[in-house]
Amino acid sequence: MMPTLQAVIGLEIHVQLSCATKMFCSCPNRPGDEPNRNTCPICLWLPGNLPRFSAEALEKATLACLALNCRIQKESAFDQKVYYYPDLPKGYQLSQFHRPLARNGWLDIVQEDETLQRIRIQKIHMEEDVARLVHEKEGKTTVSLVDFNRAGTPLVEIVTEPDLRTPADAMEFLRTLRMQLRYSQCSTCSMEQGTMRVDANVSVRPSGSNVLNAKVEIKNMNSIRHVGDAVAHEIRRQESLAMSKEPIVTHTRLWDPEARITSPMREKFEGPCVPDPSVPPIVISEKWLREMIRNMPEMPGLKAERYMNRHGLTREEALQMSAERNVSCYFESALDHQAPPRLAAQWIAAQLPPLLKDREETLENTPLDPQRFAGLLLMLEREEINANAAREVLRKLCESTASPAEIVVQCGCRQVSEADELEALVDRVILENASAVENFRQGASKALGFLMGRAMQASGGKANPRLLKELMTSKLKGDGQ
Ligand code: ADP
Ligand code: MG
Ligand code: ZN
Repeated sequence: MMPTLQAVIGLEIHVQLSCATKMFCSCPNRPGDEPNRNTCPICLWLPGNLPRFSAEALEKATLACLALNCRIQKESAFDQKVYYYPDLPKGYQLSQFHRPLARNGWLDIVQEDETLQRIRIQKIHMEEDVARLVHEKEGKTTVSLVDFNRAGTPLVEIVTEPDLRTPADAMEFLRTLRMQLRYSQCSTCSMEQGTMRVDANVSVRPSGSNVLNAKVEIKNMNSIRHVGDAVAHEIRRQESLAMSKEPIVTHTRLWDPEARITSPMREKFEGPCVPDPSVPPIVISEKWLREMIRNMPEMPGLKAERYMNRHGLTREEALQMSAERNVSCYFESALDHQAPPRLAAQWIAAQLPPLLKDREETLENTPLDPQRFAGLLLMLEREEINANAAREVLRKLCESTASPAEIVVQCGCRQVSEADELEALVDRVILENASAVENFRQGASKALGFLMGRAMQASGGKANPRLLKELMTSKLKGDGQ
């Protein structure tokens, strides 16, 4: 009988660093501009020009390494990775092969059964990106155009150990990695926009074995979902090869997301990697590194713990508030203004996104500042307004600089909590809706919702829903006896 097989997966992730300039010259790092605008003799790779290594690239790369718990190496250096292709006419790419910037990192991922698994990161190295090729039809012939805007832009490559075992874990790893990197603000990590690109290495072996068998590398995946699909497909392909006792040969494949298959890819010629003499070794001082570590933000994992322990958020709320830096900043700023934590979390997660989307704003540029947002939530918590009114006030807060209290006065939506006022309301609704009252007494619980709706409507949406419900149920039950 065939032993059951286990998949072994390792990822290589290219991340474009959010730097103002390219890695070895002062051209703008804006690959999307009009083609070949952002170029100079250095990044056109013309002969006779010396690269000048960018301090910002080192800073952003170091942020990436620290966000992934890596050991920064005291000294690292660039090599020339030799190959020729029209996107690399100088014949080599500056990359760190022998002496990478960092080693021995890790990330914990939450597996499907909710246990934590630590995925080791082998190394992170810096490298320059190559030019972009654009293939176009000119009449009947296909021509290839070269855009050097991307040539020499700063990248890091993150290489994991082959510690992943399932497509789901690979996807979760990438989501966690993206969260950490975005949080450190070293990159936007957008797979759609190509600022994060993933290659997946896949092999299979008998469950329980420790061997590393021949692997297949899959390239060309531009979403995390595609990585999951491609890896799952590749595991099935290798399993069926193993079943029919066919050998698995090391090679590279391309994922076709439409056809949902991988197919073999023509390999580029790759030459040796030789030490580069033009960029001096990168020497990291203790002092500089300490300063970088000191300036690292509190990362999402720790933040989420703190939000749960200190502010009583549920795990889900805490994860929502901690995953992105702009969200956690807004949340914490609202707390600084005394917003009730759970209410703030719920409103930031559910109410703000559609509102901001409508208004084409972001948390950073919306006129709805955390202070007035907090003020609104306090009024809601103190039952001075109800949730419906609060949603309306929220909109109005975006349109003026008035305080929440002022807007509540303007729109006359202060909540009605006075017992006699509410009682009169309930009496009237019960009197006018005899059949619903009858249904309620027959046990139709939906009737209560209907009657509540009527009463709320009659109050112009201003009734305190909690008190209203109390009064309504006690009246209905009382009348029934
Ligand atoms: P290569 O020399 O072919 O580039 P590396 O050892 O540098 O291979 O590893 C590249 C990536 O492939 C790493 O992410 C690593 O974890 C992964 N990898 C290495 N061996 C295997 C294997 N047998 N199965 C799956 N992934 C592997
Ligand atoms: Mg490799
Ligand atoms: Zn340049």
